[in-house]
Amino acid sequence: MIPPQVHVSRHPLVQHKLALLRDRNTEPKKFRELVRELAILLAYEATADLATEEVTVTTPLAAARGARLREQIGLVPILRAGLGMVEGVWEMMPSAEVWHIGLYRDERTLRPVEYYNKLPVDPTVQVCLILDPMLATGGSATATVDILKRWGAQRIKFVGIIAAPEGIAALTTAHPDVAIYVAAIDDHLNERGYIVPGLGDAGDRQFGTA
Ligand code: URA
Repeated sequence: MIPPQVHVSRHPLVQHKLALLRDRNTEPKKFRELVRELAILLAYEATADLATEEVTVTTPLAAARGARLREQIGLVPILRAGLGMVEGVWEMMPSAEVWHIGLYRDERTLRPVEYYNKLPVDPTVQVCLILDPMLATGGSATATVDILKRWGAQRIKFVGIIAAPEGIAALTTAHPDVAIYVAAIDDHLNERGYIVPGLGDAGDRQFGTA
């Protein structure tokens, strides 16, 4: 049973691009392009409930009622694989702030270790979109939500591309209020913490470091 706060996109464009992304023959340039495009499509779904306020603008013909975003949005890519998800989403919401969080996974314990966090003392955004393509053990995502909640972020959403059932379970147990948006929930994690079938190492495949 998929928890209600977990949203798996069934959009044909998302599923088409996901298959290309998974393919081992997809080169880093194309891979980066796909990560960027999938991030835009998934963030589109994740932001469908953002608050707006009414505005009036003047067209060349008359006044027209419209809407503008009411809340300040923070994009929070988890380094380094989340980097490829930022640019496209940022283009869609150029007034968003980008706050990087650096976590690496201790290969022995598979636990996240924080190495980069420049959040100011007081929160500057109301809604945070955490960006990380792979929700594997859920350790990094959970640690990032911990950091953002301590900072004072009021609403937090996780936007990824592929999740493992283990990652979904960990994040929804620790933070049931955080909605999760992904393109797929895969089968399982292997003994090295990789999602199967997954796509391999999302950082290495973006940056050509495999
Ligand atoms: N991180 C990745 O890049 N790939 C996985 O399968 C799991 C974590």
